[in-house]
Amino acid sequence: MKVTLLACTPNADKICAAAGHSCYSKNSSADMVDEIDSDKVLSRIVGMGHYSVIEHAVFTFSIEGVSRALTHQLVRHRVASFSQQSQRYVSMDSASYVTPGTVSENQNAKEIYDTVMNTIWDAYEKLEKLGVPAEDARYLLPNGCTTNITVTMNARELMHLFSLRCCNRAQWEIREMADQMLEICREVSPVIFEDAGAPCVRGPCPEGKKSCGNPRKK
Ligand SMILES: Cc1cc2nc3c(=O)[nH]c(=O)nc-3n(C[C@H](O)[C@H](O)[C@H](O)COP(=O)(O)OP(=O)(O)OC[C@H]3O[C@@H](n4cnc5c(N)ncnc54)[C@H](O)[C@@H]3O)c2cc1C
Repeated sequence: MKVTLLACTPNADKICAAAGHSCYSKNSSADMVDEIDSDKVLSRIVGMGHYSVIEHAVFTFSIEGVSRALTHQLVRHRVASFSQQSQRYVSMDSASYVTPGTVSENQNAKEIYDTVMNTIWDAYEKLEKLGVPAEDARYLLPNGCTTNITVTMNARELMHLFSLRCCNRAQWEIREMADQMLEICREVSPVIFEDAGAPCVRGPCPEGKKSCGNPRKK
């Protein structure tokens, strides 16, 4: 998996802090953006539940070499924009799939897994040679098939994504992606994302009896 930040709002911490503070000031956000202490101002405003101010910060990521099982979960997040590699227009002409650790660490399981994957791709190639278009041959392809996706989210939606997907109870592959995205977001906007992550980094686990019992570190 490769996670790359393609673009983001420059000085996002300051812009969100200035936007938030301008709600309570006679001055405009332009008047205060250069001087504002984003650490102090933003944590107070967001702490009050005024989350809309962090919608001013937008982040675009390229996510490469992940499974369709991952992207199926990712695109359930509705306050976002996505562009995903098409299986209609791009021929999946060579076997490319994600192998979960539970499979790769078990030699017998890996043999079964690889055999089925190779059989699928053989069949895919045969259908294509018979003139079946990629958009129909793709019906054979598995959840593990690799894909690339570009995603744009604002910081409010990213905070929500990190709450759900950095949790130990999230599926391992999307958790790995969310962890990488969070690390990158923290580098560029340390104030906005200071408390981001699974709910257990901020307080008690909301999962009740289903809690993993192993709180994550910030
Ligand atoms: C551990 C885990 C297991 C899951 N298991 C399943 C499963 O078995 N089956 C399944 O189908 N899904 C499952 N999901 C997906 C889950 O149900 C959500 O679809 C997904 O996490 C997107 O989150 P969301 O709907 O809160 O937020 P988003 O779509 O990211 O939206 C953000 C927020 O905007 C608001 N919002 C967005 N759209 C609306 C709307 N139409 N009406 C009102 N408010 C809205 C809500 O407050 C929402 O929380 C699972 C998710 C997780 C994390």
